Amino acid sequence: MNPEPYLLFKERCVDELHNLQEEFKKVYDIDSHTNWEYDHGLGIFTIKYPDREYYFEYVGVGSYSNKTRTWKWSWDNEYTPDDVKKGMLKIPEFGKVRGYDELTTGLFDGDGETGWQMTAIANNLLKGFGAYKATSGHLDIYFLFINEVEKESYDKLRKRYVKCGEHGSRRRAFVCQHLNSNTKTGFEEAFPTYPDMEFEYEDDDFQAWCDECESVRVKYDGWNEESEKFAKIKLICEKCYFDIKEFNLGYKEG
Ligand SMILES: [Zn+2]
Ligand SMILES: [Zn+2]
Repeated sequence: MNPEPYLLFKERCVDELHNLQEEFKKVYDIDSHTNWEYDHGLGIFTIKYPDREYYFEYVGVGSYSNKTRTWKWSWDNEYTPDDVKKGMLKIPEFGKVRGYDELTTGLFDGDGETGWQMTAIANNLLKGFGAYKATSGHLDIYFLFINEVEKESYDKLRKRYVKCGEHGSRRRAFVCQHLNSNTKTGFEEAFPTYPDMEFEYEDDDFQAWCDECESVRVKYDGWNEESEKFAKIKLICEKCYFDIKEFNLGYKEG
């Protein structure tokens, strides 16, 4: 059997997304939203109204530049974090099997329609339930929504993240006041950790302290008012946490 010609496939995907968007716009009353915001760390796209907000887990599909008139797939974009382009590699894989060149080319010339067409294809392969075009300067950035997140889960998720001046929105981590990336102080942890790990329990956090804090902790037979006063735990981001860990354990000098 011959594969479906690309133009037909593309048209079919566009129709599919068009129908989905009608429903999506109705359900969320998209026409009356007043603002939007996305957070690549959290992986949440927020659509804002004067009296409420909706939260969507998304996949970044790609962006269309109105300046260079080119489409750039997210899977080919080093600035899009892996977490928000999960599953996007399905597109070039599928394109390779079918011989659909636009799906296997990271950057190509397009026009005003290209962004929605590519988003429609991503929707067909990744099973979204709605999409959004966010314009920022000369870029139209396309998002495919995979799940709606309830406010309660969003608030819970948000609480576990911090905005780091250096690394943006990241999972939170706790360290004693003595830990830093300039002086080695030892590195004790509540449990073994590695970057991007999934926690066993929902309430787990990255927690580390220095050798001195460890001896105080042992002296007081655990964390109590005294040992905590000495440690003066501070909040940092996950990336900073692992920078300090690597520095202290000497991987970097290795
Ligand atoms: Zn300490
Ligand atoms: Zn940081």
